[in-house]
Amino acid sequence: MATSLYIHIPFCAVKCNYCSFNSYSGLESLQERYVDALAIEMAIVAEAGHLRPLETVFLGGGTPSLLSCELLERLFNSLRSCFELRRGAEISIEINPGTVDRKKLAVMQRAGVNRLSFGVQSFNDRELRGIGRIHTAAEARAAVEMARREGFSNVSLDLMYGLPGQGPESWKNSLEEAILLELSHLSLYQLTVEEQTPLQRMITDGERAVPREELIAEMDEITSGLTGSAGLRRYEISNYSQAGSECRHNRVYWQNDSYFGCGAGAVSYIGGSRRRNENIPESYCDLVEAGESVVVETEILSRDESLRETVIMGLRMTEGVSVAAVKERFGVDLGEYYGTSLEDLIRKDLLWLTDSSLCLTARGRIFANQVMAELV
Ligand code: SF4
Repeated sequence: MATSLYIHIPFCAVKCNYCSFNSYSGLESLQERYVDALAIEMAIVAEAGHLRPLETVFLGGGTPSLLSCELLERLFNSLRSCFELRRGAEISIEINPGTVDRKKLAVMQRAGVNRLSFGVQSFNDRELRGIGRIHTAAEARAAVEMARREGFSNVSLDLMYGLPGQGPESWKNSLEEAILLELSHLSLYQLTVEEQTPLQRMITDGERAVPREELIAEMDEITSGLTGSAGLRRYEISNYSQAGSECRHNRVYWQNDSYFGCGAGAVSYIGGSRRRNENIPESYCDLVEAGESVVVETEILSRDESLRETVIMGLRMTEGVSVAAVKERFGVDLGEYYGTSLEDLIRKDLLWLTDSSLCLTARGRIFANQVMAELV
């Protein structure tokens, strides 16, 4: 049984041009109906006994902070009436800086939210406009500072590198700005140009260009240097934190542990079975209101598939995959299971294996995708 719950809020003020998440703009009139549908789905999940008292809750999207104070309050009330939350449970919410004010922060605080994750992406206005974000750098800075003033101490900020028109100097400026805010956690992602997004079309048409590989490598070096001197430890490929501020909810994903997902397009992973809800928010509401199942896809993973996924996900973490945990969960010895393919990767200085863990080396992190492709 799971102790982690993800709640998906699929609404955004405007769709960013690089975004391939299950999120939609222009659905303001559906928000109230959606929050009520979520309450029904959560009640059904609680009734079915899929979850033990919750250790982590994550409201992601989309833009959860786009909901009004009243809807946020309604959503948190439903959450608390359906599920028991452990003392000290981590309750995170994603915030777009262009959609938050003191009143919403107060609602979140009253509801027990204790971790905020701001999607800032860049502190350069030209870059922000280039990817279609709705906020400026100054607004992002002000929103984060307001959250700190309102008493939130566990605050994370997302930045992206490899943006169109971005160079190492500009990345350095953005990262330095983020570090100056003295936050407990940073998520630093390289932009992935997803298929079928407006950004991909702009790149194909020559309207935008992303930085070359050498520049990305320079940005990686800047990241290591600046996060290291700021005392932020890299604990996952894209995540850095002060000691003790690692995101507990995301660790559940990286350890391939069970979690439950509610909302349109949300995924659940329980006991080797993965299920996905209907993506389209309106259809999701229709199904819930009609008393029908919102699950549109179920995949039962074999033991081997679960084991391999656990290894791939675990390698994302700096501490790597626990040899003992794999032995206990799957009854296999990692060295014996992968045999010569693992030896090969170790010989190429891409992985290292000790009695306690299997980890990517520094070189392995650079070629992480290739290493994982060998092990999946
Ligand atoms: S705010 Fe986030 S979820 Fe919404 S469109 Fe932009 S990137 Fe996608």
